[in-house]
Amino acid sequence: MLEKVLIANRGEIALRVLRACKELGIKTVAVHSVADKDLMHVRLSDESVCIGPPNPTDSYLNIPSIISAMEVTDADAVHPGYGFLSENADFAEQVENSGFKFIGPEPGTIRMMGDKISAIEVMRKAEVPTVPGSNGPLDDNKDRTLALAKEIGYPVIIKAAAGGGGRGMRVVHNEAALLKAIYVTQTEAKSFFGSGIVYLEKFLENPRHVEIQVLGDGQGNAIHLGERDCSLQRRHQKILEEAPAPGVPIEARERVANTCIQACKNMRYRGAGTLEFLYEDENFYFIEMNTRVQVEHPVTEMVTGVDIVKEQLRIASGEPLPLTQADVSISGHAFECRINAEDPVTFLPCPGKVKLFHAPGGPGVRVDSHLYSGYCVPPYYDSLIAKLISYGETRDQALLRMQIALDELLIDGIRSNIPLQRELVRDAEFQEGGVNIHYLERKLNS
Ligand code: ADP
Repeated sequence: MLEKVLIANRGEIALRVLRACKELGIKTVAVHSVADKDLMHVRLSDESVCIGPPNPTDSYLNIPSIISAMEVTDADAVHPGYGFLSENADFAEQVENSGFKFIGPEPGTIRMMGDKISAIEVMRKAEVPTVPGSNGPLDDNKDRTLALAKEIGYPVIIKAAAGGGGRGMRVVHNEAALLKAIYVTQTEAKSFFGSGIVYLEKFLENPRHVEIQVLGDGQGNAIHLGERDCSLQRRHQKILEEAPAPGVPIEARERVANTCIQACKNMRYRGAGTLEFLYEDENFYFIEMNTRVQVEHPVTEMVTGVDIVKEQLRIASGEPLPLTQADVSISGHAFECRINAEDPVTFLPCPGKVKLFHAPGGPGVRVDSHLYSGYCVPPYYDSLIAKLISYGETRDQALLRMQIALDELLIDGIRSNIPLQRELVRDAEFQEGGVNIHYLERKLNS
């Protein structure tokens, strides 16, 4: 087993990783920016190192600083959490070249999945269903491109191979607009991502976002832990997630999940990963793979009983997967509400001092949060301050527990989106289950 892990992240996920390390008897090193010395996990870790100024570029994204901190503290591995350097293949490579372990896939796998075109290619080989499209980069042949789009059928979406974070995409509704839109997307992609390579996909009009959680041990074994529905989004940011996805037939889920496992086996995938799909008319369409732990991993943990972060640590230690697919059973239902320090109406970030923090409790309630009374939320980072998770034997029970927990949750001193979450869990259509990815924005704009 690993002896000492450096946590290259902050906030709730850093605390989540710290707790998993403690359970496994692994020592922890927290690295933090000047603005983050009062973070909960910094207080609870065995050692801590300040790695730079508040600006993430100078601290949490500063690769030399983080590797120096590993050297100074004699850590044997780094857990990147999500965001920051978690999907940076160069970081993973430098960590490994410096003689440390990266808790995640091999750098080559991260790079391959980071390029959306090569990711789609890998998935197609394993028969993972993908969106009808160009299945490769667009070239300079305009006639061929026009013919291809016609064949796919409008609307189509132009996507940058190197895109991410909802950027580098453009929807086109008719032939007259296609070539100009491709040119604009290529130009933007070149300046944002350093590569102007783009491809075409059919644009699905009313899909849901359903994703499959996988674990691979890097030794050729892989399992899935079922799916999550993350359709409630605003500007491509997930707000409220649940597992399992309501109304998705188990056979359909199993069919697609088995292809995901095959893809992971083919690439000898190491670590936790998520294959994201659009789901429309009972069909799954792969869009991308995230090669890291996701914010919404707790809902999967609640319905499977598998501790995903502990599994990441065990896999990085070189242990084979302790579970086979037959050992995984999904029971009950779970929700996660993301609590953000933001104005519930304007969505503007609201950093500041938390005068009082009171977490809810009771059966089936879990709170993943670094907040405490007196903590000051800094203005420099993501606004996620807590994740409220509920579990129930049925979807209705989990939802009721979430309503009760949201009413108990108290964050005083700063504004948060708690009022919005309270409204969402009482929304009639959401309660029915199965709303699509446009539902939240349409509701907010109505
Ligand atoms: P990113 O890496 O920037 O997050 P994704 O490929 O995951 O990009 O797409 C982000 C979002 O864009 C999806 O969750 C979905 O809302 C929308 N989207 C992407 N591809 C399509 C498509 N083919 N049809 C409809 N919507 C799409």
